[in-house]
Amino acid sequence: MAKCTDPVIGKILAGWRYDISGIAPEMRGDYEAHFAECAFCRSRQKLHRGIDIGLMALATASTAVFLLAFGIIRHFHPSHAFWLEMGALGGFLLSILLWLLVAVATPAPLVVKDVALTGARMGLEKLPEEIRDRIPEELRVKISGEG
Ligand SMILES: [Zn+2]
Repeated sequence: MAKCTDPVIGKILAGWRYDISGIAPEMRGDYEAHFAECAFCRSRQKLHRGIDIGLMALATASTAVFLLAFGIIRHFHPSHAFWLEMGALGGFLLSILLWLLVAVATPAPLVVKDVALTGARMGLEKLPEEIRDRIPEELRVKISGEG
């Protein structure tokens, strides 16, 4: 477990973050054989897939928190609500971006990936209109001092 049995293959696998799902099945043989015989790379593969899932969960949680914050601000209308809302929206957009990055850059299980990409796409489709509808109105009020 402490050492890779074939450092050359081990290095290649490390470069792929131990993901061989993108390689044509007929080319995978050597790497699958290596995973079978090398406990070190097997444990690394497990670790990296764990990190992928963790990042995904983190991005999902973060998106939910910002969305919740946005909802709470809208509901209770505290003072400075506009800037708090913009902050929450900004955080929400960043979370979606993180989500997309993780989904695109990591071989997270395909089911998770599909759900994430669909969710992010829906979120992005929804948001611009929300922002377009709000910003001019809010800014107009702020600028003209009618609020
Ligand atoms: Zn190895």
